[in-house]
Amino acid sequence: MRNEGSVHTMVIPTIHFHSEYSNIPLRIAKGHFATRNSHLNYYIDMTYTKHRLSEARQAAKELVIKLSPDAIVDTVLCLDGTEVLGACIADEMGQAGIRNRNVHESIYVVTPEFTSGGQYIFRENTAHLIQSRQVLVLAASVTTGTTVREAVEAVRYYGGTPMGICGIFSDLEECAGLPVTAVFYSSALEGYQCVSANQCPLCKAGVKLDALVNSYGISSFYR
Ligand SMILES: [Zn+2]
Repeated sequence: MRNEGSVHTMVIPTIHFHSEYSNIPLRIAKGHFATRNSHLNYYIDMTYTKHRLSEARQAAKELVIKLSPDAIVDTVLCLDGTEVLGACIADEMGQAGIRNRNVHESIYVVTPEFTSGGQYIFRENTAHLIQSRQVLVLAASVTTGTTVREAVEAVRYYGGTPMGICGIFSDLEECAGLPVTAVFYSSALEGYQCVSANQCPLCKAGVKLDALVNSYGISSFYR
């Protein structure tokens, strides 16, 4: 019998992460998770930092405080569904006096399009928001760095200057030769591991995967 209207919702435990500047909830689950590029022993749920305005504002405030006040940002390039956070960062930068060089004295917030082969593409109406601009690359999570590295290359290809990388969570302090500014760093999570599948200690120990993870979220396996 069909159970219409029933939606499975995974309950993610929440811990409050007291950062230097704020008290942003951090929702994490321990287990064995696979992404396109890696295997992880933590799943970090960023749904509310990405989609709840009050949390996005807090995260934006924290990120902008951590960025250099001398930074010049013309465009925020949003990856992994971080458009709400990107808009909050642009707003916060205006208030914090971070400069831009745009004629209209505003910061552009842009999402890339991808070809079927997964390559970044900017069309005629958005390419000039990258070309000759100082671009801040914003990702939800910087783990292996593959996604942001590709974004940095795309910005350069379209004639822009990548000036930094921001993320909600990061396992790296630097990527593609640029500093990574994050709300949370992996050092806050005890025993955090992000490894390639063939080096995964959980796989080697015969532990089955709990879920597949990508930038949209999590899909659990039911055993
Ligand atoms: Zn594994």
